[in-house]
Amino acid sequence: MLNIILSGAPGSGKGTQSSFIAQKYGLQHLSTGDVLRAEIATGSELGKQIDALISKGNLVPDEMMYGVIENYIAGLPQDCKGTIFDGYPRTVAQAESLTQLLKKYNMDAIMIDLLVDEQLLIQRLIERGKVSGRADDNLNTIRHRIAVYHQQTEPIAHYYLHHGNYFAVNGNHTMADVFLQIMRVIELARPDKR
Ligand code: ADP
Repeated sequence: MLNIILSGAPGSGKGTQSSFIAQKYGLQHLSTGDVLRAEIATGSELGKQIDALISKGNLVPDEMMYGVIENYIAGLPQDCKGTIFDGYPRTVAQAESLTQLLKKYNMDAIMIDLLVDEQLLIQRLIERGKVSGRADDNLNTIRHRIAVYHQQTEPIAHYYLHHGNYFAVNGNHTMADVFLQIMRVIELARPDKR
């Protein structure tokens, strides 16, 4: 089983690289951002609450995310080769709970941190905003999301560093070059091949 947590700031390329990884290694791709946006699209009460948070660039509360992840893991097919977690965990509490949950199923994960300079993040997100139609891809919200990332998500790097399964990748390069680096890390670190 190969579980990979792909972390990084908004605009770091998590979504793109996650798709490449999922395809190359035959993994399931769980994007919590996509799951939340799908809930918003249903027009449900819960979706409205989520929309109010996401469109301002804030995180959804941990308690709301736990159910999503538990249901996801409980529903994994028997023959699943592993998951690429794209956008989860985003807080230290989520990281702790994911470790426990994976342990329950006799699984673990490696964490790959995509590191990208702030100017480039902003530039990419503004470009994406021209086509994505995402309410959170505008300059003010982008700045807020990056601040939220520094405050709430960046500390998970120390959590994984401490647990010995942290790998950093320089995400400032082209999509193809970043993917090459990621593949190198995966080949070196694969917990299922150790
Ligand atoms: P990006 O990484 O570009 O910000 P995502 O699609 O991954 O885009 O996430 C969009 C938004 O969804 C986040 O800004 C946040 O509000 C919410 N979200 C996604 N994953 C989580 C999570 N694990 N915990 C809390 N909120 C989340």
